[in-house]
Amino acid sequence: MVRIRGLRKSFGTKEVLCGIDMDVQAGSVMCIIGPSGSGKSTLLSCINHLERIDGGRMWVGGELVGYRERAGKLYELPERKVAKMRARIGMVFQQFNLFPHMTALQNIIEAPIRVKRQPPAEARAKAMVLLERVGLADRAAAFPSQLSGGQQQRVAIARALAMEPQLMLFDEPTSALDPELVGEVLAVMRDLAATGMTMMVVTHELSFAREVGDDLVFMADGLIMERGSPRTVLANPREPRTREFLSRVL
Ligand code: ATP
Ligand code: MG
Repeated sequence: MVRIRGLRKSFGTKEVLCGIDMDVQAGSVMCIIGPSGSGKSTLLSCINHLERIDGGRMWVGGELVGYRERAGKLYELPERKVAKMRARIGMVFQQFNLFPHMTALQNIIEAPIRVKRQPPAEARAKAMVLLERVGLADRAAAFPSQLSGGQQQRVAIARALAMEPQLMLFDEPTSALDPELVGEVLAVMRDLAATGMTMMVVTHELSFAREVGDDLVFMADGLIMERGSPRTVLANPREPRTREFLSRVL
C-alpha cells in the first residue's frame, strides 16, 4: 500500500529525513517510534505531501505521491490532484483539530459533503454509523468543548474515516490525553486495525505497538535505525540507540 524509497527532506540546511526506505503492506499496521526530532512527523507529512520532498519517491496505492515522473525527473502535481490524493489518506494528529463551532456530527459530514459531494442525508447516515463505531452515537450533537479529550480524538478518527481512506496516518494520537483516556482511543484504533485498515502509527504506546503492530521501525536522526516485528524489536533491540531509547520510555 505504501512504498517509500530514498526519501530525503531538509528544512533549510538541516536534513531531517536522510534516505528512508519503507514498505507498508495493505491491511497492516506499521508503528514508528523514536526520539523527539528524529523526523517521525515529517515522514507522515511527506506521505500526505504536506511537505515537498528533496529526494526519493513515495507511492500510496501504487500512485506516486505529489509528483509526476517524466524522463526520470519529478514534476510537482497541481494542487487539485494533490487534494484528490490527500482525500484518500486519513490523518489524526496529537491535537484533535476538530472545528470548534461544529458539533461532532457536523465535523464528520463536512468533508464528505464538501469534497466528495455526498448528499447530506447520506453523509449524516454514514456519520452516525461511524459515531456508533467509536462509541459516541449519543454525543452526535455535542460540540468539541463539551467532549473529553478522548471523545474528541474518537470523533477525529471518525471524521477521518468518513472520507473512506485507503490509508490512515496517526501522529501520536494519544500523547495529549490524560492517562485514563488513552485506552479508549487505542481501543478504537485496535478495532480499526482489525477491520483491515492500513495504518501508520507514530506512538510511544509500546504495548499498542506490541499487540496491534505488524511492523515496527525505530527512527533516529532522520534514519531508520532498526526494524522488525514489534515483539522482536521491543524485546531484543539489536542497536544500542534503540536499547537506549527503549530504556528511557519504558
Ligand atoms: P517529536 O517526537 O517531537 O514529535 P518528530 O520525530 O516528529 O519529533 P519532526 O517533527 O519530524 O520530529 O522534526 C524533525 C526535525 O525537523 C526537527 O529538528 C524539527 O525541528 C525540524 N522541523 C520540523 N518541521 C519543521 C519546519 N516546518 N521548519 C523547520 N524545521 C522543521
Ligand atoms: Mg512529531
